[in-house]
Amino acid sequence: MKIAVIGSGYVGLVAAACFAELGHTVICVDNDPEKIAVLHRGETLIHEQYLPELLARHRGQRVIFSGDLSEAVRASSVIVIAVGTPPLETGDADLSYVETVARDIARSLNSYKVVIEKSTVPVYTSEWIRRVMQLASATAADFDVVSNPEFLREGTAVTDFLYPDRIVVGADSDRAAEVLRQMYAPLTTGSYYQQAGAIPEPAGAQRPARLIVTTAKSAELIKHASNAFLALKISFINAVANVCEAVNADVEQVALGMGTDSRIGRRFLQAGIGYGGSCFPKDVAAFRSVARECGYDFPILQEIIRVNDEQRRRFLKKVRTALWTLRGKRLAVLGLAYKGGTDDIRESPAIDIIRSLLSEQCSVVAYDPAAMERALQVITGDLTFAEDPYQAAVGADALLILTDWEEFASLDLARIKGLLRYPIVIDGRNLYSREVMQKHGLLYVSVGRATVELESSQASALNLNK
Ligand code: NAD
Repeated sequence: MKIAVIGSGYVGLVAAACFAELGHTVICVDNDPEKIAVLHRGETLIHEQYLPELLARHRGQRVIFSGDLSEAVRASSVIVIAVGTPPLETGDADLSYVETVARDIARSLNSYKVVIEKSTVPVYTSEWIRRVMQLASATAADFDVVSNPEFLREGTAVTDFLYPDRIVVGADSDRAAEVLRQMYAPLTTGSYYQQAGAIPEPAGAQRPARLIVTTAKSAELIKHASNAFLALKISFINAVANVCEAVNADVEQVALGMGTDSRIGRRFLQAGIGYGGSCFPKDVAAFRSVARECGYDFPILQEIIRVNDEQRRRFLKKVRTALWTLRGKRLAVLGLAYKGGTDDIRESPAIDIIRSLLSEQCSVVAYDPAAMERALQVITGDLTFAEDPYQAAVGADALLILTDWEEFASLDLARIKGLLRYPIVIDGRNLYSREVMQKHGLLYVSVGRATVELESSQASALNLNK
């Protein structure tokens, strides 16, 4: 199939590379000339496992990059909209990028096209796209609009795309639904998985992929409801963690006991400093706005947001409690990205917490395997970057863990302890067991678990108990 993907960001670029991997011919469009130039140069734009390999495999053959939307639309039978839908002040999704693209597509139609809405959008958006395209003089018979939400996670985006839990196709026309069935056939028949050089199967993958056909409105709601539910799971376990702290229980034990119930499941029951990223914060807020507009208040959604915000403030309080005063303190921070495996810092709790620490006159030495360049563009103040966790720890008054990168879970703790000014680790992601920290003689503060205190002789030598 000939596919135009409009928007070459985290979703569009991954979708374009993966559709090429499935055998389609893809034109990946962006209106940011800088991005197109970078992609033409052979760079990848974003940090994502397997994306460099896929782009190297298909660039210039089954994937080309272009700034010309009209030409891409004319050359393709399927148009995938993957532009951003950022939040407005009101919490509503800003659909102006989607509207602009819909209008531009309408003006370039030269035959029947299926227009796929892959951006995360509120219910009714497919109807709006149809209406805008008709106002821009497209004829109803010349196109169909299908909602095909994307469920990929940054960090594992390529494998999520190629080994999805499900593919949701919200189509109000059989003709369009059939086009999407064909488009995803290599995944739903399993033929892709037999292919030499196929991207390796992740643990627990369900294949062949399951395709669920719904109405467009149901598909739009599936995406918002799924993200809101995942955010709810995170806020729920964080609220449980706060009770654990009050009664001296251990949230990791509680999460294990809850999560082994197959009706609940272990994933996303991870206590910490809360969710961030470009999806959950905006999607929960947008879902709330949509529900309100439809006449239903949905107060649980507001509570998810409140607990998530509170979690960052509680963490800052822990830093203050561990260090007494913050002014003039030097803090080593591990993690800037909103989660491990990505360079995305949008709505990252780490960035928010660093900004607060800087505003309280701390100096921060940060390390992140992928996100330092992006962080440099958004944070000003007494922030420097280190080459690795150990360099960050040198002479620091405490080490803070803010992102769940795998490499932060296997630090040489004896070395860290030797480098720190005070042996204090404040872990916003619960990457270590209390026992390990105790064994290493570190004062260890985490989320939903009792603090590991220093032996009293060690504490008095450091003047920490005063
Ligand atoms: P992004 O900001 O990384 O990328 C959007 C791209 O669209 C940008 O490169 C921008 O330059 C381009 N663009 C904007 N207007 C354009 C136009 N008129 N013509 C051509 N290009 C244009 O955003 P993203 O993270 O890829 O998210 C895209 C959508 O997918 C959002 O609705 C998001 O909610 C949804 N989504 C994101 C993820 C994720 O993990 N990032 C996962 C699932 C769904």
